[in-house]
Amino acid sequence: MTATTTLGQHAYHLLRFIVDEIGPRPAGGEGEAKFLDFAEGFFRDRGLATERHAVPNVPSPTGMLPLLVAGIAGLWAAAWYLPVAPWAPWAYVAVFSIVPRLIRRVRRLGRKGATGYNLVATLPPVAGEATRRLILCAHHDTARASRIPNPKVGEAARMLMRLWPFAALGLGGLGLVRVLDAWLGPFVPWSVWQALRMALAVALGLWGLFLLVYQALAQSRKFSPGANDNGSGVAVLMAAAEALAREPLAQTRVDIILFSAEESGLIGSEAYVKEHRDRLDGAAVLNLDMVGSGERLTYVSGAGLFPPRRTTRWMNALLRRVRPDIRGRWYWMGSSDFASFLAKKVAATSLEASGKGRENVYHTDRDTMDFIEPALLDEAARLVLDFAAALDAASAEELR
Ligand SMILES: [Zn+2]
Repeated sequence: MTATTTLGQHAYHLLRFIVDEIGPRPAGGEGEAKFLDFAEGFFRDRGLATERHAVPNVPSPTGMLPLLVAGIAGLWAAAWYLPVAPWAPWAYVAVFSIVPRLIRRVRRLGRKGATGYNLVATLPPVAGEATRRLILCAHHDTARASRIPNPKVGEAARMLMRLWPFAALGLGGLGLVRVLDAWLGPFVPWSVWQALRMALAVALGLWGLFLLVYQALAQSRKFSPGANDNGSGVAVLMAAAEALAREPLAQTRVDIILFSAEESGLIGSEAYVKEHRDRLDGAAVLNLDMVGSGERLTYVSGAGLFPPRRTTRWMNALLRRVRPDIRGRWYWMGSSDFASFLAKKVAATSLEASGKGRENVYHTDRDTMDFIEPALLDEAARLVLDFAAALDAASAEELR
């Protein structure tokens, strides 16, 4: 047996313990506390210094339904009354850009949210004084187990949700056209406005209905066991940390950060970046999310549509240098903790497994060890170590 296969097997055993013995790990919950004790002990036993950073007021996703109903009804009404009240979309935008923020602020004041913890484990370089800094991260919390078995439906719902501000602004634009039409025109026949209002009412009605039905049906109190999402990333980093502790890098300090509350909206990583931004200049962040199921590893070349955000080019180039056959893919929907770093101009990229054989079971109670492949965990751990070594040895020109 070679050292490389034991790396994957080690990660697999760690993952099995996390999933089967500890179980679901909601941010701020009992499962998270058990996991943190386990991981902290693991890192300390291997000589890494650890720290916990509190992530207060993790919001609960329940209780958003009334706001959703009001938001959809308001948008629909703004479309229906557009020909007679062209200012309505703008009133709507004004109200709905303020109200949700107000509600969130009031909730945070109420100290109702749970407190999660980010766990940071640090490995100094051989040289003592570090000239480079690598952050390896993965979120340790698990999502609510949706009652809708196919996560693709959830992805579609999130995508439709993201169209919201654009629908509102689009209506605002039509409202302006209508104002000009009434004032200087008419250029557009009244029958066209009537047909437009009908079409918009039907489209927005279907859009809102889908979102509401999805929200109502998907809500559940249970949490996912999170084997692939994201016990896989956590276990791979723990196995990699052990290897790095045995053979530290020459000049690179490595921080392994296991984030809380990613599933509540990247809250753990956002809190970390906010608190430490002044100490993150020159750091490079490699995030792992769902690396245990699928055909092969890929890196995330960028995320989002509104707005699109690219991951750091030189990091992706370095990944391709250590794995010439690795492919990049765009995250059209969803995101992960790397985005919190990119938002504050810190170099970051992310790994995920994809392709055939990846069962779409994340965010459900079927995200168990059944779909985890030890060979992929091994590949991920080796890629992390090779990337770390390449970063440590790279010339300064390659790191920008
Ligand atoms: Zn995840």
